[in-house]
Amino acid sequence: MLALLLAATLAAQVPDSAHLVLVATTDVHGHATAWDYLEHRPFPGGLPRVATVVDSLRRRHPGQVVVLDAGDLLQGSPFASFYARRGVPGLHPIIEAMNLVGYDAATLGNHDFDRGLPALFDALRNAAYPYVSANIRAEPSDTPMFPPYRVVQREGVRVGIAGFTTPGVMVWDRDRLRGKMRVVPIAQAAPGALAGLRRESDFAVVLVHSGLGGGSSYDTTGIGIENAAATLAEASSRPDLVVVGHSHREIRDTVIGGVHFVQPRPYGGQVAVVHVDLARKRGTWQILRVRTELLDTRSVTPSPLLEQRLAGSHDTVQAWMDQPLGLAAAPMRSTAARMQPTPITDFVLETARRRAGAQLASGPAYDLQAGFSDTVRRADVLRLYPFDNTLRAIRISGAQLRSYLEWSARYFRVDPAGRISINDSVPGYDFDLVRGARYQIDLRRPVGDRIQRLSVGGRPVAPGDSFTLALNSHRQTGAGGYAMIRGAPVVYDKGEAIPELLEAEVARGGADPAARPPSEWGIVPEVARVAVRNLFGVAPPPLARSAADTVTFRLVATADLHEELPVVAGGIERAMDSLGAECGCPGVRLDAGGSLQGSPVGEATAGRAAVKLLDAMGYAAAIPGEREFDWPLDTLRRRTGETRFPWIGSNLTDTATGRRPAWLASYRMIDTAGIRIAVLGYVAPETKAVQPAERTAGLRFGVGELALHQALTEVRPARPGLTVLLADAGATCDSIACEGEVVRLAEQLGGSGVDLIIAGRSQRPFQTRVAGIAIVAPGGPGAVAVADLVKTPAGGREIRVRVEPVAAGPARPGSELAGVLRSLNQLGDSMERRVVARLKRPLDRAGPQFALGALLAEARRNAGRADLGLVRNASIRSGLPAGAVTWALLRTVEPAGAALVEVTLTGSQLRDLAERVVGDSAAPSAHLAGAEVRYDPRAPRGRRTRSVELAGERKLKPRESYTLVTDDATAAGAGGLLPGGLAAVRLGVTEVEATAAYLRRLPQPVEPGAAVAFQSTRP
Ligand SMILES: [Zn+2]
Ligand SMILES: [Zn+2]
Repeated sequence: MLALLLAATLAAQVPDSAHLVLVATTDVHGHATAWDYLEHRPFPGGLPRVATVVDSLRRRHPGQVVVLDAGDLLQGSPFASFYARRGVPGLHPIIEAMNLVGYDAATLGNHDFDRGLPALFDALRNAAYPYVSANIRAEPSDTPMFPPYRVVQREGVRVGIAGFTTPGVMVWDRDRLRGKMRVVPIAQAAPGALAGLRRESDFAVVLVHSGLGGGSSYDTTGIGIENAAATLAEASSRPDLVVVGHSHREIRDTVIGGVHFVQPRPYGGQVAVVHVDLARKRGTWQILRVRTELLDTRSVTPSPLLEQRLAGSHDTVQAWMDQPLGLAAAPMRSTAARMQPTPITDFVLETARRRAGAQLASGPAYDLQAGFSDTVRRADVLRLYPFDNTLRAIRISGAQLRSYLEWSARYFRVDPAGRISINDSVPGYDFDLVRGARYQIDLRRPVGDRIQRLSVGGRPVAPGDSFTLALNSHRQTGAGGYAMIRGAPVVYDKGEAIPELLEAEVARGGADPAARPPSEWGIVPEVARVAVRNLFGVAPPPLARSAADTVTFRLVATADLHEELPVVAGGIERAMDSLGAECGCPGVRLDAGGSLQGSPVGEATAGRAAVKLLDAMGYAAAIPGEREFDWPLDTLRRRTGETRFPWIGSNLTDTATGRRPAWLASYRMIDTAGIRIAVLGYVAPETKAVQPAERTAGLRFGVGELALHQALTEVRPARPGLTVLLADAGATCDSIACEGEVVRLAEQLGGSGVDLIIAGRSQRPFQTRVAGIAIVAPGGPGAVAVADLVKTPAGGREIRVRVEPVAAGPARPGSELAGVLRSLNQLGDSMERRVVARLKRPLDRAGPQFALGALLAEARRNAGRADLGLVRNASIRSGLPAGAVTWALLRTVEPAGAALVEVTLTGSQLRDLAERVVGDSAAPSAHLAGAEVRYDPRAPRGRRTRSVELAGERKLKPRESYTLVTDDATAAGAGGLLPGGLAAVRLGVTEVEATAAYLRRLPQPVEPGAAVAFQSTRP
C-alpha cells in the first residue's frame, strides 16, 4: 500500500511534458574575445557574444538549457597563436571563456591536436565541462581516451551527448600522435557508441567534428573518410540531433532519415538553438517537435563578464600583435598573388627555401588582402601567414613535381565555352605555387595536362630527376589532396614555425621587393591571363591591354592623406606625373577628402601649409572630409578659399537658406581636350554626429542619393563624358564582396548618371563595381586610385579602375612642390625644437602608477573640461628628462599622436571602467584624472574596486552621467577598457597638443605632484 502510494506521488511529481533548449557552437578557433586583433576592431563573433545568447536563453528557459561545442577550439586565431607559442602554465584563457559561458559538453576537433597531446591535456585539465569522444583511443593500450558520451538531466529528460572526430587527424598530425593515440573511422566506432547512447538517453545528441559528406582531402586508405556526419543517419540506433563541425559551412535544420542535422557558422559568429518539445507517455518520453534556428551573434553585445575576465589577455595579445618587426622597403601586396609571381609570396617561399636549404619551395597565398607597407607589425605577418605550420623539406622526383603542379592547377576551371572561373571545390589555400621551377599553366589544356615548359635551373624536368622541396608540415602530410607526395622522404624538419621564420626575416630587413628575383611561373595564353586578372579584380598593368584600346582620359585620385601629406606629397606627385606621361592623354587630379587635417605642421599653420601643398600638386577639385571639420568652421572656410581649385560639397546646404554655402561648390565641370568631366562631392553625413555641434553649425549634411539629386540635375544638361563622385564614405572588402557606406550609396545611384566613385575613408585600397558604377579607393596615403576612360576597338567606352601603390620619395627638384616642402621642413624643425615648458625633475614611467601618467590624464581632462581624463599605460612610450620640454620630446612620450575624444559614461559604466583597469592580475593598466579609486589587488577579478570618488569628494552615482576624455583608439575599445559603441565626440586636438597646452598653463618650472588615481588597499 505504502509502495503504491509512493509510486503515485512520484508519478504526480514528474510532469508529462518538457521543453529543452540545446545551444551549440563549433569551430570557435580560439575566438575567446570578440575582437579582431588584425584590424583593431570588434570581431563579429567570439565567445563573449555566445555567452550573451546563452545567458538570455538561460533566463528565459531556466533549467532547460544544454550548451555544446563540436570542436576546433584551441587553434586558429591570433589569440590562440599567442598562447600556443608562449605556453600557458595555469588556466588557459580560451578554456576560461568556455567555462564562463557554461558549456555542458564538447568534443575535439582535428586542430585541437595541432600542438600535441601534452599541450591539449594541459588546457583541458581546467575545463569545467567534460569532453566526450567515441572514436579516439589511447595507444598503445587501445583504451578510450575520453568517455564516449555523457548524460545530463533537464526537466526529468535524459539528454545523452556523444562525440566523434574526423580520422583525418591521423593524417594531419601523424607525426605528433603516432604511437600515442588513434582516431577510429567514424563508421566503425558509431554503431557501438550510438547503441549505448540510445539506451541511456531520452534525447540523443551527437557532436561530430566531421563534415556532412563529400570527398576527403586526403588518401583515406587505412584512415577512414574525412566527412562522415551524414552516415550517422544510417546507423541502426540513430541519434535525434547531430551537431556538425569541421567544414565551416552553415546547415540550417536538415532532416536525414529522421535525424536533425545542424551546423552553425564558425568562430562563434553563429549559435545553433534547438528547441525540443517532448511528452511523456506510459513512462517514456516522446519527441513531439524539434525546431532549429541559427542565431547570428554579429549584433549581440559581448558579455561584460567575459570581456572583463579576459581583459588582461586581450591587452597582452593586442600589444603582441602590434609589435613592430621591421620596415618594408616599398609596399608589398598579395592582391595579385594567385595570378602572377608577387614579391610578397616570393618573400614567404624564398624564406622557407633558403632556411631548409632546398632547391624548390611551395606554398599558397592565404589571404589576398595581406600586405606590407612601411612598418611591418606582427599582425601583418600573421595575416600573410595565419597558420602555425612548421617548415619541412622532402625529396621528390620530377614526376612528383609535375603531378604536384597539375594538382594545384585544378584551381582554375574552364567551361566548354572557354569561360574561366575559380573551381569552388579547391580552396585558395590549396592553390600552391612553386618557386625555383619555371613553368606555365596553360588554361587551354585539360586538367592534368596544364603544366607546360617545366624546367629547373634551365633544364627541362624529366620524370626521374630528383629535387628537394621546402613546404609546410600541413602540406607535407599530403593534405589538400596532394597524395603524390605522401611518403616522400623528409630531409628537413626542425619543428620551426613558419610565421616565426617570417617574423625573423622581416627583422633582418627582408621585407624588400627588390631583395629577391621574382618566381618564374605564369598563366598562358594572354587571354586567359587577362580573364584571371579580372576574376581577382586586378587591373592590367598599364601596357598589357589590347593594342587597339585607347585610353582617352586618365583620372588620378588620392584620399585620406592626413598627417602623411608632407611625407608622401613628393612620391604622389611623381606617381601622378609618370601615370600621366605613360598615358599621354589628358587627365585630372582629385582628392576625396581627409587631406588637410592631421599633420603637425598643418595644424600649427591651421592648414595653410596643407593647402599650399595641394595647390602645388595640381589638384583640380577636392572635398572636405569629416576630419577637416576638426577646425572651427571659420578656419575651414578660410582655407578652402585659399586654393586655386574649388572644394565641392554637393550634399551640403545652409540650414537657413537651403542653398549651397558660398564656400563650397555644388560640382565642378572640367573641359579638357574634348572631354567634359563633371565632379561632384559627398561629404560624410556622420560628420554632424561625430563633430562638436559648433563645428557644423548652420550646415545640413544630406544623406544618400536624394542629397545629390539637385547637383546631378544641374550637371546633366551639360552632357558630361564622365561623371565622377568624390565620396567621403568607405567600404571594406574581402575576397568576395565589399560592404559599407559607399556600396549602399552606389546602389542608390545606379542609373543616376554617376559613372565612377572615388571613395575616401577606407582602411585598405579596393576596387569594385556596384550598380554599374566603378568604385575605387586608394585606401590611404600608400596609393593612388587610377581611372582610365578607354575606347575599345568596337567603338565602346569603358572605365577601368585600379589602385597604384606609391613609394615615398622627394619631390622633383625645382618643382613648386619642392619649394613648398622645403619651407615646411624648416618650419617643422623649428617647431619641433620649440620649448613648451620646463620640468623641475625628470618624469619616469616607473611602476604601474606614476606622475607622468597622472599628468597626461590630467591634460586630457583639461582639454575637454571634462569630469575625467583617461590614458592607457600602453600608449605612454617614454619618460621626460628634467629641463626643457620640446614638441619633439612630447612626441616620443605619445608617438601615436592620436585624436582626443569625449565620451559620456554613467556612474556604473565608470565603475566598470575602474574595475577593468585593476582587473588584470598585474596592476592598474591606465591612469585616470578626476577620480580616486581604491582597490584590493588580492580580491577576485571583477570585485577588486572598493570605492570610486570623484574630484571634490563627490560620491559616484550609478545613474548620473560623467564626461571622460581619452584618445580615439581607447574610446573605440582598444585595451578593452571601454565598451565599444560609445558615441565619441572629437575635441579637435591630439594628445600631444593637449599635453603641451596643459604644461604651458602650469607654473614654471613644472613640479608635478605624485597624486595618482588608483590606490591599493594593501600597500
Ligand atoms: Zn575548423
Ligand atoms: Zn576541423
